[in-house]
Amino acid sequence: MQDLAELYQAVILDHNRRPRNFSEMENPDHLAVGDNPVCGDHYTVFLRMDGDRIAEATFHGAGCAISKASASVMTSMLKGKTVEEAKELYEHFHHLVTSGEVDEDYLSDLSAFAGVHQFPARIKCATLSWHAALNAAKGSEDDRVTTE
Ligand code: ZN
Repeated sequence: MQDLAELYQAVILDHNRRPRNFSEMENPDHLAVGDNPVCGDHYTVFLRMDGDRIAEATFHGAGCAISKASASVMTSMLKGKTVEEAKELYEHFHHLVTSGEVDEDYLSDLSAFAGVHQFPARIKCATLSWHAALNAAKGSEDDRVTTE
C-alpha cells in the first residue's frame, strides 16, 4: 500500500507542478468561478460545448496543490464527456474523496485523490473545481460557487 500511496502522491505533485489545461479560454460558452475561502483556493473553469458534449475545458486561478491538481485532472477527463457523464464522474469522485474507497472500474488519475478523505478540510479543495465545472455546464446564471 505504501508504494500505491507514493504513486498517488506523485500524480498530484505532477499535476500541481505542470497543471494541464491551465489557461483562460477566449470566448468560452460557459464559465463559473469557484471559491474556497477556508483554504484560499480561487479558480475559474471555462467550457466550450459541442451540443451536450464538453469539447474543451480549461481553468485558471490559484490555490493549494490539491485544488490545482484536482482541476488539472478534472479538465483533462471532462473533455469529450456529456454533461450527464460529467455528473456521474463527479459522483464517483465525491465518493472517492469522502470515503477513500477506490472503484476499480474508475482507476485513473482521479484515484490519486483517495487519500484526501483522511483530511476532511481538504475535501473542499478537491471538489471545488468540480462544483464550478458542473455549474458552468448547467449554464446557470448563478455561476459563482463558494464552499461553506
Ligand atoms: Zn485548498
